Amino acid sequence: MTENSPSCYNQLIMKFAYFEGKIVPFEQATISIMTHGFNYGTGCFEGIRAYWNADQGQLYILKAKEHYQRLLSSCKAINIKLEENISDLIKITIELLKKNDYKEDVYIRPLAYKSEEKIGLGLHGPDALAIYLSPFGNYLDVSAGIKVCISKYHRISSRAMPAGAKLTGTYFNSSLAKADAIDRGYAEAITLSHKGNVAEGSGENIYMVKKGKLITPPLSDDILPGITRVAVRGLAKNEFGITTQEKSFKPSALYSADELFFCGTGAQISPIVQVEKKKIGDGKVGPITKKLQEKYFQAVRGELPRYRKWLTPVE
Ligand code: PMP
Repeated sequence: MTENSPSCYNQLIMKFAYFEGKIVPFEQATISIMTHGFNYGTGCFEGIRAYWNADQGQLYILKAKEHYQRLLSSCKAINIKLEENISDLIKITIELLKKNDYKEDVYIRPLAYKSEEKIGLGLHGPDALAIYLSPFGNYLDVSAGIKVCISKYHRISSRAMPAGAKLTGTYFNSSLAKADAIDRGYAEAITLSHKGNVAEGSGENIYMVKKGKLITPPLSDDILPGITRVAVRGLAKNEFGITTQEKSFKPSALYSADELFFCGTGAQISPIVQVEKKKIGDGKVGPITKKLQEKYFQAVRGELPRYRKWLTPVE
């Protein structure tokens, strides 16, 4: 694997996980094949990153509070009641990271689900929470830029699934879009909303740069309310005086963008240099994307005091 290639690890290297209210050896964190969440997708989850800063000897959890707030609001949308509150969840995550003793970038996956072992639909059974970790590199390329397609799969409408919740079942739609993109030779897919507007990537939000300004789809276009999406808007304004407009746009608008990029916890800031067969701008990573990305990477690794409030140190 080269330094710049996507390096999301499929192999889990983890000593401990959080399961059924306690930290246990990873091998003991197992569920029955009858589990409701496994059979029907009745669960919700988060993807959180922790960045290792070797100079400071410190692991920083990025936007821990915001992620656990979104987890709890996803839980509410599907009638999951957790015993743990936000501060418990952050404490458990810190303890888990300490016990696993990582000195590298880590992905944190909290997963809440309907845990009843019973055949039959509904959202009334008991709930459970698991948290596991994995060392994690770049999910998408962050240097040369990626080629993406417009997916034939539309993003699941907020009329079909609760809007804004990060539900496991919804990710079947994302997986279809991603698999189709890979089969067609692209790195990622752009999905459209039920109105035919640009929504987002299969697992990340999208920004367009036009005439020095940022444009991103509004929540009403069926997107996940991304935490990175909000962070990017703040960075652009505070660091470079670049404003963001939230507005719906059709896929045709993508082709006349000066720059395009995805953003998300996994994707970080991933430049898009081609959509279908058309190059965006001159087909290279644009200057605004590049400078936003540089600041973002400094901020998430604890190199910019102004953004320390984004981070929870583990030690
Ligand atoms: N959209 C989708 C469908 C996602 O899965 C993600 C990743 N959680 C995002 C957007 C970006 O959200 P965030 O910045 O909170 O990671």
